[in-house]
Amino acid sequence: MAPAAAAAGGPYRGRFAPSPTGPLHAGSLGAALGSWLDARAHGGRWLLRLEDTDTPRCVAGAEAAILGQLAACGLVADAPPLRQSARGPAYAAALEALRAAGRVYPCACTRKDIAAHWAARGLRWPPEAETPYPGTCRGGLQGRPARAWRFRVDARDAGVQGIAGPVHWHDRRLGPQQQDVAQAVGDFVLQRADGLWAYQLAVVVDDAAQGITDVVRGEDLADNTPRQILLQRALGVPAPRYLHLPLVRAADGRKLSKQNGAEALELRNPVAALQAAGTVLGLPRIEAAGPGAWLAQAVPAWAGIIAAFATRSRP
Ligand SMILES: [Zn+2]
Repeated sequence: MAPAAAAAGGPYRGRFAPSPTGPLHAGSLGAALGSWLDARAHGGRWLLRLEDTDTPRCVAGAEAAILGQLAACGLVADAPPLRQSARGPAYAAALEALRAAGRVYPCACTRKDIAAHWAARGLRWPPEAETPYPGTCRGGLQGRPARAWRFRVDARDAGVQGIAGPVHWHDRRLGPQQQDVAQAVGDFVLQRADGLWAYQLAVVVDDAAQGITDVVRGEDLADNTPRQILLQRALGVPAPRYLHLPLVRAADGRKLSKQNGAEALELRNPVAALQAAGTVLGLPRIEAAGPGAWLAQAVPAWAGIIAAFATRSRP
């Protein structure tokens, strides 16, 4: 199969980026397996990143548990993991570059202020939806203290050219996608009121630093992609290709997550755990005595699956 890393201009480099908020569950193993298989099917490298920027939610021992679970399944990274907690200076430099380019501004609004803005206009969003930021502090803080730094999504008013309208992007499985970020999300936070770095900034800076050519992750993260593409453009870093994987669902159809009680993976039988994750990804039943043998058969099966995606989702 042809090398597919042309988007970011280098040999394939993929990654799995778990948050150490607890051990892996069936859903997170699916993302790990999908990203590993995609890297191997392209003859590429597979890297790990621990997304531990949201430090209050991180759990002591979770990182070691995750690495142990991955190793038990035969999923071993090609380099030592990158930890977002050690990347503060890189995120600060990116924020400074965006500030120098007129792309960020301080914001004094609380969640309550934002909800009140929309409520005054008879609008409210359901709790699970993102409430768009109405741009209250675009023109200055009006004497209020700064809490967070926001990215100016549409900076035409700041004299920046070529950034109006919806973001169009291609997903290797889902096909052509688009989102008008200004309308759906508004100017989004890069550094939070508590000083922590927002996921969007950390991911873009780290994908660039790790030379990631292909982002393969769960479909629940697809909505973040247009924001990340806008940040890539503003920072002048390459855009990786994207593949969003089907999710493992809980019995009620919701995405399986730590928040809705997903249990830590039972790894006395790693082949059974790999097979369960692989079935959700579309792999056939693979008979194998151990995880290494299972994975060796899964790689060519995955190559066939992604070849079918490429035919079906061509832009
Ligand atoms: Zn504000």
